[in-house]
Amino acid sequence: MSLPFDHDVAIIGAGPGGCVAAALLNKAGLGVGIFERTRFPRFVIGESLLPRCNHILHEAGLIDCIKDQAYMVKAGALFVVGDQRRAIHFNEQFTKGWTYTWQMPRADFDNTLAEAVQAAGVSLHFESTVTAVETGAVQTLRVTGPDGESRNIRTRFIVDASGYGRVLPRLLGLDEPSGMPLRHALFAHVRGDRRPEEASDGRTWVTVHPEGAWTWVIPFSNGQTSVGIVAEPEMLAAFPADPKARMRAVIASDPVAAEFLSEIEFVIEPGEIRGYATAVKSLYGEGFCLVGNATEFLDPIFSSGVTLAMESGARAASLIIRELGGDEVDWAADYSEYMMRGIDTFRTFVEAWYDGSFHTVLFAPNPKDSITRMITSVLAGYVWDMDNPFVREHKRKLPQLARLLRRMGPDPASTVDPKTIRPRNP
Ligand code: FAD
Repeated sequence: MSLPFDHDVAIIGAGPGGCVAAALLNKAGLGVGIFERTRFPRFVIGESLLPRCNHILHEAGLIDCIKDQAYMVKAGALFVVGDQRRAIHFNEQFTKGWTYTWQMPRADFDNTLAEAVQAAGVSLHFESTVTAVETGAVQTLRVTGPDGESRNIRTRFIVDASGYGRVLPRLLGLDEPSGMPLRHALFAHVRGDRRPEEASDGRTWVTVHPEGAWTWVIPFSNGQTSVGIVAEPEMLAAFPADPKARMRAVIASDPVAAEFLSEIEFVIEPGEIRGYATAVKSLYGEGFCLVGNATEFLDPIFSSGVTLAMESGARAASLIIRELGGDEVDWAADYSEYMMRGIDTFRTFVEAWYDGSFHTVLFAPNPKDSITRMITSVLAGYVWDMDNPFVREHKRKLPQLARLLRRMGPDPASTVDPKTIRPRNP
């Protein structure tokens, strides 16, 4: 007699959201199948973790395999705007937690997680693309395998962790326009960058272009560095169309980036994502839920994407375990509302980055230690710590602090236009 289900839970996509969910479901004794369109290792952008990730990796039994890779340790971040510099140190935090995390090429990181979940007993199918789905009392996925043949997979629950594949949002009409303004990202792996002294320990550093773009610099332990430029399309259009020439030209026209990045050589050809922000109408439905980038992606500025992918993967797994065990689960309260608390905290900070108020707070001349610690905890990904006023009341606290600092003047971010991140003309 054939089994009624191929797997208890079928997961679409083997990125960090899918692998964390798979590891925890498998640990709870459920049968898990992952269907992944590509064959790993594969390139993906998003290479800087936040300390909050370490808790989830630990809970999922995945931290040791990551430690073994000897990735670049990330102890914080450095923000450079004109001649102003401010370092964020993860060992100076309000929330008790990890004081460091890692920077890593995602091809390697995702492959390490995928191998670990496979070794733990998860059945992972590469080159298997989900093309159709039926949800309801029984869930069915249509999967095209490496041989080009399609077959149906029957499962009790589906986790969509397909990132920009956005499988269920597309197939079930859940996609929604993002409220974030349109911005593009241009990125590559390079060699030959130099680093500001305050970022010599491997932390991410970020610089702001005089015309409003910003550049990330993320070093890896393999001697390569991820460099990316985020900008509004109108600004990028003023530079050459060829991605390599465009990256070099944007860097050359930013005095800070030019100082440290003028001698880079490309190891991986530049890629471009146009309009990276995404949103959905709902994070769940009968027999399925969405995790990671298949839900909402805001912006890369605070490196929150993988953290949110792992957090949602872990949260979804805990609820699926309860539901398949016969408990009633309140997905609205225990999943959507929970996830949106963290996403909305980051949203406030991202908006404050682009309207200039984060800069006012960041470059305040004599920052109060207690406030710096609270803000550092948000930037470390502890966006569910309701004891932190900058999480609990993020919408009120951050603008309030920026207003107060501006009133106290002289505006510490006086070189930055408060409406955009563009420096004012002299
Ligand atoms: P992914 O990692 O994208 O994995 C999804 C998987 O699903 C893929 O392997 C894909 O092949 C597979 N898939 C897709 N369609 C199908 C299908 N039909 N069938 C089967 N499989 C399918 N985040 C950070 O934390 N730090 C950063 O520094 C950072 N920088 C970023 C910079 C930019 C420019 C952008 C755009 C994003 C950045 N992010 C960053 C965000 C980060 O890339 C994502 O949040 C993260 O990769 C999401 O993980 P995931 O598991 O949801 O999806």
